Amino acid sequence: MKDWNDWNWQLANRITTLEQLEKYTDLTKEERVSIKEASFRFTWAITPYFAGLIDRTDRHCPIRMQVVPTAEELFDDAGVADPLDEEKHAPVELVIRVYPDRVAFCIGNRCPTYCRHCLRKETMVGKPDREFSDDKVAAGIRYIREHAEIRDVLLTGGDPLMMPDDRLEDIIRRLHAIPSVEVIRIGSRAPCTLPQRITPELCKMLEKYHPIYLNTQFNHPREITPEAEQACARLASAGIPLGNQSVLLRGINDNLPTMKKLCQQLMRIRVRPYYIYQCQTLTGTRHLRTPIERGLKIMRGLQGYTSGLAVPKYVLDTPYGKIPIAPSYVVGREGNKMVLCTYNGNIWREENPPEEQNVSQPQEMPQPSASCACSSDRL
Ligand code: SF4
Repeated sequence: MKDWNDWNWQLANRITTLEQLEKYTDLTKEERVSIKEASFRFTWAITPYFAGLIDRTDRHCPIRMQVVPTAEELFDDAGVADPLDEEKHAPVELVIRVYPDRVAFCIGNRCPTYCRHCLRKETMVGKPDREFSDDKVAAGIRYIREHAEIRDVLLTGGDPLMMPDDRLEDIIRRLHAIPSVEVIRIGSRAPCTLPQRITPELCKMLEKYHPIYLNTQFNHPREITPEAEQACARLASAGIPLGNQSVLLRGINDNLPTMKKLCQQLMRIRVRPYYIYQCQTLTGTRHLRTPIERGLKIMRGLQGYTSGLAVPKYVLDTPYGKIPIAPSYVVGREGNKMVLCTYNGNIWREENPPEEQNVSQPQEMPQPSASCACSSDRL
């Protein structure tokens, strides 16, 4: 198709009706009803590119399960609309602040494709009534400028790359000009759901404002296509370090072979697996949430069985910050020895130097408390 590689064409031709969807996947009568019911409550749209990755005949296709609405979204007795209390952490409307030195700056609420597991699907993303005016963006930039302790700004929303280059550049330029802002990060799923958006022009613009980082979200190895690979190569070649934040999703990637392949394929396309998020207790996601024990089992199967760079951190995000969830390799103590277990079950006893041998004490140790976000890295 002539315009297939044009990101604006992809957006203009998104799948938003049953008739359009049926060009990509078979639907039963019940599924048609189910999609209609869910779409009254939650926004949906899928780029033709991402819809093209759906396996037409597989009801449990991992691509389809992430983006096609189902009536299961309407039956969730535990999920809440804003599990991270983000609205309470907003000193000005578009800025979310949980940590002293960094903020999330929500500069838009549109995405190329709407994920069924989206953290902000109830509060912001795809909500036509949320307004992101120039005045609100200016108020956010002013807040960041007036708080010199903020050294790291994550542009998010919604997907910041839904903006045209000139508008995005205007925001980045103003943030870059603030002396206390050392790092700008972009959270975008475009490399996965709309890789056509990663144009040479966009990369040329971004590389003027280093250090720019980009974190994306691939959830399944089938999303790593030649188009996604090219998008990531363009960003990496522009000097933008890439990280991946996948979400652990029932029936999609909550098993070791899938997650291991995903992490290894990400490394191949120059994207560092950064986080696996425990799926939040969020409205409409009961059917996608998976037990924490399963996540721990996956982490056990990654650590040591693939290179350390391909092992992400498994985290649970909370209103107080991220909590790393890690299997323990410390078995116990024997006298002055610490007993540890290797990835494949071998026991190792390591001489453990006593505290008083330390020549110097650390200057300052963070003291976690119930109200303090301690040292975890939420954004
Ligand atoms: S791309 Fe991110 S912000 Fe957009 S719908 Fe998906 S999870 Fe939500």
